[in-house]
Amino acid sequence: MNAFDQELNDRLAALRAQGLERELRRVDSPQSPHVRVNGQNLLNFSSNDYLGLANDPALKAAAIQAIERFGTGTGASRLVCGSLAVHHELEEALAAFKGLPAALTFSTGYATALGTICALLGSDDVIVLDKLVHASIVDAARLCGAKLRVFAHNDLNDLERILQWTARRSGNTISAPARKSRTLIVTESVFSMDGDQAPLRELVELKDHYGAWLMVDEAHATGLFGAHGRGLAEELGVSERLEIQMGTLGKALGAAGGYVCGSRPLVDFLVNRARSFIFSTAPVPAAAAAATAGIRLAQSAEGEQRRARLWQLLAQLLPHLTAQPGRPKSAILPLVIGDETQAVQAAACLREHHIFIPAIRYPTVARGAARLRLTLTAAHSSADLEELLAVLQALQLTPRTPRLAVSPHAPAG
Ligand SMILES: *Cc1c(COP(=O)(O)O)cnc(C)c1O
Repeated sequence: MNAFDQELNDRLAALRAQGLERELRRVDSPQSPHVRVNGQNLLNFSSNDYLGLANDPALKAAAIQAIERFGTGTGASRLVCGSLAVHHELEEALAAFKGLPAALTFSTGYATALGTICALLGSDDVIVLDKLVHASIVDAARLCGAKLRVFAHNDLNDLERILQWTARRSGNTISAPARKSRTLIVTESVFSMDGDQAPLRELVELKDHYGAWLMVDEAHATGLFGAHGRGLAEELGVSERLEIQMGTLGKALGAAGGYVCGSRPLVDFLVNRARSFIFSTAPVPAAAAAATAGIRLAQSAEGEQRRARLWQLLAQLLPHLTAQPGRPKSAILPLVIGDETQAVQAAACLREHHIFIPAIRYPTVARGAARLRLTLTAAHSSADLEELLAVLQALQLTPRTPRLAVSPHAPAG
């Protein structure tokens, strides 16, 4: 083996020793409650396909039709080669769905965070993140060159302390800068690994008071919350008070891609300045058309029924997983284990019993906060839940087991 491969093997061995090695598992079926993984039939509680749309006939038909109409590839960036009608249809559908003036789509949610944050901020600015935001936002914050501050998870006092610092800081400027220094707060509405919610109303009050901008990532809330399924911002009545909403088309909406929704100037500015939009080949027509069909379905009576079904399943499961169930906060139910190796072993045990729940470890979550991340979708049946519960109980993975507890809030770290 050559020296390069030897070094990488050594690094992999170090990851393995900490219980942090990751590997791909081959799936030979569509995303659905029943999947075939490495030749084994498993009951799937790992997916963010919350409304069960990833394999829906309406979305598949829309994707196939888009291929017939526009082909498979897009040839170049939308600014270079022409911006296909399917992309415009998707952005019009998105803006209407969200009840906002405009939308822009990107090839992924990851590219959306990177392009948007780096377009808006530079080295004179400040970016303030919730401790638990997604890696795409952390990476964007580092890349954009703004001063980075992190507030304790959902801690409004800690955030206010930072905003007071930014206010003092801008007051201290001696020479007039080219433009005013800006502060952008970024959080998720529903947190991806804990399934808890951000206090969006209070965040809006704070950012208004301090003149900061607020960007909310609705990746795990779009399609699930609010009277029209627009997201948690709709449910909490703050949708029009956010500067920037982002999300993904790849979770509840059943397709692929990322989006920003907001004002027309925001979208026009991003078309000019978001590098992950400008310097990247346009998403394939099939993905855009599937996403448009996913949005239509999420808005329909059928979408409403699927949301109701999902919340009903969650309400059914929650009392078995926690002593103080309350109302489910999201479709994400983390079973926090702590130790990385133990979490991996628990996931392997579950697979032997035909249950697929992934072990989530550092760096996705803090060290020592490894967990089984259980997600439900509207496509699960009550029988699926019964099977899940029987196995969780047989393996002593319900909270009655001392070392395990569903965490309603994030662990420290
Ligand atoms: C999944 C996710 C993203 C990234 O979206 P992709 O379309 O998968 O790239 C961004 N933010 C959060 C909170 C996510 O969970």
